[in-house]
Amino acid sequence: MSVVGFDFGNESCIVAVARQRGIDVVLNDESKRETPAIVCFGEKQRFVGTAGAASTMMNPKNSISQIKRLIGRKFSDPELQRDLKTLPFQVSEGPDGFLLIHARYLGESKVFTPTQVLGMMLSNLKGIAEKNLNAGVVDCCIGIPAYFTDLQRRAVLDAATIAGLHPLQLIHETTATALAYGIYKTDLPENDPLNVAFIDIGHSSMQVCIAAFKKGQLKVLAHSYDQNLGGRDFDEVLFQHFAAKFKEQYKIDVYQNARACLRLRTACEKLKKVLSANPEAPLNIECLMDEKDVRGFIKRDEFEQISAPILERVKKPLEIALAETGLSVENIHTVEVVGSGSRVPAIVKILTEFFGKEPRRTMNASECVARGCALECAILSPTFKVREFQVNESFPFSISMSWKGTAPEAENGGVGSHQSTVVFPKGNPIPSAKALTFYRSGTFSIDVQYADSSDLSGSAKISTYTIGPFQCKAERAKVKVKARLNLHGIVSVEAATLLEEEEVDIPVTKEDASQMETEETLGAAAASSTDADANMQDPKGTGEAGADTSNVENGVPDSGDKPVQMETETKAEASKRKVKKTNLPVTELIYGGLSRGDLQAAIEKEFEMALQDRVMEETKDKKNAVEAYVYEMRNKLNDKYQEFVTDSEREQFTSTLQEVEDWLYEDGEDETKGVYVAKLEELKKQGDPIEHRYKEYMDRGAVLDQLMYCI
Ligand code: ATP
Ligand code: MG
Repeated sequence: MSVVGFDFGNESCIVAVARQRGIDVVLNDESKRETPAIVCFGEKQRFVGTAGAASTMMNPKNSISQIKRLIGRKFSDPELQRDLKTLPFQVSEGPDGFLLIHARYLGESKVFTPTQVLGMMLSNLKGIAEKNLNAGVVDCCIGIPAYFTDLQRRAVLDAATIAGLHPLQLIHETTATALAYGIYKTDLPENDPLNVAFIDIGHSSMQVCIAAFKKGQLKVLAHSYDQNLGGRDFDEVLFQHFAAKFKEQYKIDVYQNARACLRLRTACEKLKKVLSANPEAPLNIECLMDEKDVRGFIKRDEFEQISAPILERVKKPLEIALAETGLSVENIHTVEVVGSGSRVPAIVKILTEFFGKEPRRTMNASECVARGCALECAILSPTFKVREFQVNESFPFSISMSWKGTAPEAENGGVGSHQSTVVFPKGNPIPSAKALTFYRSGTFSIDVQYADSSDLSGSAKISTYTIGPFQCKAERAKVKVKARLNLHGIVSVEAATLLEEEEVDIPVTKEDASQMETEETLGAAAASSTDADANMQDPKGTGEAGADTSNVENGVPDSGDKPVQMETETKAEASKRKVKKTNLPVTELIYGGLSRGDLQAAIEKEFEMALQDRVMEETKDKKNAVEAYVYEMRNKLNDKYQEFVTDSEREQFTSTLQEVEDWLYEDGEDETKGVYVAKLEELKKQGDPIEHRYKEYMDRGAVLDQLMYCI
């Protein structure tokens, strides 16, 4: 079983693997620790990661980046619309209201969902891990921003499935960082926890997490974020600044030219990095547009001035997180900054002012998320032994469930009152399960939504679950519904059970009674706790139960898979009340995402594309082999094979080699794998006998040497 952590960023991705001696960040094919988050579609194959980044300048319209911003978002989402303006590739609205990405691939115009593209990236990262571990990788943990919605989380899981991965957990990036911070600390207090604020400023977003550390555990106290505040905003400010300057100075409008835009943006990002370490920086681009070379220059002070509107926003997430914990800044023991976007000195200044202390950078700012993910995977994996460390995660949203009431007027054909209750409030532990009790006479449905839609930019609706059909003997039956917030932070209605009481006269012996009590306790633990039941039952006193939510122990197994299950409760010494349990069908409707069929199709499509990539890679390898043979043989003919060929033989072979070399650059530049294989064999027919003669001679020499030695 593999133990791997993936941090997929907007800009770059990192892969960490757990080995017995610790966590390692592994290198990709180009020996880099960071892999660009880019898929470039080509005429013959895809280029993913570093290869994708290399193709971007040549082929910007077919280079898909910023996927993390795009997955699980509606086309109409205003934030998405803003993002799209800066992206060089074409998108459109799909029939489901979500995004479709257009690209030219294999000479045809094709569309892909963002989930598919993320699947391609994850597949590439999976390959990097597999090469390093020399084994297949399936189990993993993937880092996600705390602000990811239910749909975005589901999209990441789908993308992982497309890539052939099985995430044991989608873990919040800042929590992964907190884990990587705490697990190695040997001096954590036994009692009074140590509060640490983690601030991650990445490419496009900022996240804050305040966690309390004690010996052997961490507890997340608060998550907060600004989804639209990151390093790229500074690039954009610089970009606009210089675009305006160049328009005036050189009369060029870069907005009119996709490639010029891309080049100026790239240059601005570089400039920003230079400004992090220097008080001023130049910007020079040759032949930016209309064959004009441009020159610019900016001081850090001016950069900070034009960035003021962005810098002003840094404080808000800090305030929100702190307010949520109820702590004051004095209670924050340490402030850790991660994410490369935080390298802008003005940001560090704001953090220092806010917390009244210098933030620290003891973590590896770009690798801590991936490391934390690998650690979490190790904790979850049964095959790996890690130091005891418990992560108590906190859910960053409030989720409510609503349903139509069954008040009398509703039953008489009137409109049922809508009832709603917060089932998983903000700060709820992850994972968690709750039971809701309904009194219903037939099929009913439950809507799941965000209780506070101000948390999101997208739609508040998540899903609808239909429970039933069922028939009951009484007018209304008790239906227990189990809602789950799983390890990934995804909410669902997991099961529904019809509970029907039947009174049966059976004489009860003393032993039976004690036996039954134990059964009842077990039943209660798996279904609900009575306290919460009492609190929630019939909240409005309308005579209808509504729902009661009650905690179910995390990880307590479901009450069984059998469709009908009997649970016994003691009522009186003389008779037994039986509760018949029947599992009811639960139908799930998610608002968005891939259907099961779509997902299967996407898996097959990915397989096809991966095969095509592999064929192309092999073709390149075979072509390189022909080329290498030509060079090597030509050198050898004039060197160590010289005495093993006649002059005419050498002349003839050299000219064949020359012909093949010319062919490689002309007609044979773009051939199939089979043609290159055949070409190499053809050359070897001439070359092998020469090589053979040489080898024989050398072997004989070796034997002679040995004989001499014996004598
Ligand atoms: P996200 O966390 O948003 O998903 P990510 O993890 O890919 O994205 P990071 O790698 O943490 O993001 O940060 C990338 C950002 O950091 C980019 O905007 C980059 O320009 C910026 N950055 C990198 N180095 C520096 C530097 N020396 N000074 C300022 N900014 C920098
Ligand atoms: Mg990041």
